[in-house]
Amino acid sequence: MMKYEYLLFDADDTLFDFPKASSRAFEAMCRARDIPYSPEVYRIYHEINLELWAAFDRGELSKEFVTLERYVRFLKALGLERDPAGCNRDYLAALGEGVYPLPHAEEVCRELKRRGHRMYIITNAVASVQRSRLRGSVFAELFEGAFISEEAGAAKPSKAYFDYVRRRLPGLTDENALVIGDSLATDMQGANNAGLPCCWVNPAGNPGREDLRVDYEISGLRELLEIV
Ligand SMILES: [Mg+2]
Repeated sequence: MMKYEYLLFDADDTLFDFPKASSRAFEAMCRARDIPYSPEVYRIYHEINLELWAAFDRGELSKEFVTLERYVRFLKALGLERDPAGCNRDYLAALGEGVYPLPHAEEVCRELKRRGHRMYIITNAVASVQRSRLRGSVFAELFEGAFISEEAGAAKPSKAYFDYVRRRLPGLTDENALVIGDSLATDMQGANNAGLPCCWVNPAGNPGREDLRVDYEISGLRELLEIV
């Protein structure tokens, strides 16, 4: 018997290898903008990027500011005269084309689809980039749809985001849906806020959080087949 008809999957680092997609997109941007690429150059960008997104998470900066400013600071750090807005555009365009499924993601999703589950993506992301990545991926035919924070006007882990999902899936109940993701802060916290069962994908064996309900913990996606 099917336990969870609706499976709500996080995308990045649950189904897709985001660090790989990001570094490949950065490399493509460097080629397009005539910037000498090396792993060290990427490391400099990556550190600037992380610092700015941390400020975004604290509510100090807007998303628009972060995406441009990361290239302003990166170019300044390397003493390069390039157009930061153009760099960001090229990066996002390349990111939209690169999808690298994590191990077993495709095989597991195919099997779940075959068993009759209704699968959706729940993701905090720039809509144009994420739609393009999904369209170009093997997952396009396996998933019924994607709920992207930018279109929802709210993001995980807010209850408002999951209310948006529920409005669009009238058949979804507190019992027949499972939230699956790698992040405690967004996916598991979001499921807790929304009152939905959840499964934490934790291949690194990171410690959990006492204040969070985690109904299932798995080290790889294949374990899902025994749960749902
Ligand atoms: Mg994730």
